[in-house]
Amino acid sequence: MTYSDYKKAFKQLRSKPVKMKKFLKFNKPKERKFGLSTKRCRRCGNVRAHISSYGLHLCRRCFREVAVELGFKKYS
Ligand SMILES: [Zn+2]
Repeated sequence: MTYSDYKKAFKQLRSKPVKMKKFLKFNKPKERKFGLSTKRCRRCGNVRAHISSYGLHLCRRCFREVAVELGFKKYS
């Protein structure tokens, strides 16, 4: 299971609190202070192609979609 969707298993485990506890203890991804997974897209949670300039914290794909709404203008 990828890092981005480990919380998807919570849906099934909500009715089984003991198994949920066990899952959190052994299967939860490690809390990281630095590295790829610390920077995630605010909109979709992607870790790749992160844009943090201007405090955007979006991936390039989401940036392309919302850039005009944010007030960015394309000069070409
Ligand atoms: Zn994104």
